[in-house]
Amino acid sequence: MIVIMRAGATKGEEDNIIKRIREYNLDADIYPSHGKERRVIGIIGNTRSLRDVPFEIMPGVETVKTVTPPYEKVLLSFTKGKRTIVPIRDDLKVGGKKIILMAGPCAVETKNQLLKTAKSVKEAGAHILRGGAFKPRTSPYSFQGLGKEGLEIISEVKEETGLPVVTEVKSDNMIDLVSQCADILQIGARNMQNFDLLEAVGKCNKPILLKRGMQNTIEEWLLSAEYILQKGNWNVILCERGIRTFENSVGIRNTLDLSAVAFLKQITHLPVIVDPSHATGKRNLVMPMSRAAIAAGADGLLVEVHWNPEEARSDGAQSLLPEDFNQLVREIREIAKAVGREV
Ligand code: PEP
Ligand code: MN
Repeated sequence: MIVIMRAGATKGEEDNIIKRIREYNLDADIYPSHGKERRVIGIIGNTRSLRDVPFEIMPGVETVKTVTPPYEKVLLSFTKGKRTIVPIRDDLKVGGKKIILMAGPCAVETKNQLLKTAKSVKEAGAHILRGGAFKPRTSPYSFQGLGKEGLEIISEVKEETGLPVVTEVKSDNMIDLVSQCADILQIGARNMQNFDLLEAVGKCNKPILLKRGMQNTIEEWLLSAEYILQKGNWNVILCERGIRTFENSVGIRNTLDLSAVAFLKQITHLPVIVDPSHATGKRNLVMPMSRAAIAAGADGLLVEVHWNPEEARSDGAQSLLPEDFNQLVREIREIAKAVGREV
């Protein structure tokens, strides 16, 4: 951290700042430097606990610059370069060489719908079934999911197909219930900063799929992941699902931030996957964005597939038909090979 004093700030003002820093007993060194006009104070070391100190309003201070990122445990440097590989089942892990494909409907609607879709995605090569029973919808008038009945359907379909399941948990008091059928707990974009929920899943023993909020920066997203890690659960998978930008001219729902994927793979040890369905909102954009995601280094995809999208109760327009998904898997195999991965 660097505290930059105003031109003409006094030695007394500088001493006052240093005194304040010392009160924190930091594992850091303090280096005051004096130029012709300015004094700056460099604080080198772990300065995270200084972030809330309002240096800017203290006498003589012009501005403060931070150097240390606010997150810690999510950093690849924290694990000394060792990547987190999230175990789902003995033979299934997210974050290794293998690209993991999660596919299924947006929402669980009926047993027949989930089963038919699950069988088709399994046959095409999906490793994990997706489907929401508790749907966090923007409008209270939209389909909210089948709730507990949906979880029962998930359990039955899991049993019949043998596929592990990722499904959303909306509130902390539902974690135990949803965990009975979920192999991965999804935290949706709208809940990315529900800190009680983050802390609660941080204390459970299920892998967590943490979606990026549609209006959140990478820093905020990583801080949300940090909440989970900090409570003891390190099995976190990050999922980029598109963000809001000014772009709406072709009716694209969101903008898929693929640079976030490439960037995250450089700075965090956590696996990163991409949801091309919510990122675009359009069926015909899902395939090209999936290819691009794998080329950019994503560890997997979360794709909406419905055996009959025209009848879907949510997100039909972005849902692939089973045959489209089959084609997607074939194309992803080729891209994976080209970037030294496999499906
Ligand atoms: C979903 O995956 O079903 C979903 C609601 O996505 P998001 O939270 O990214 O909007
Ligand atoms: Mn959806």
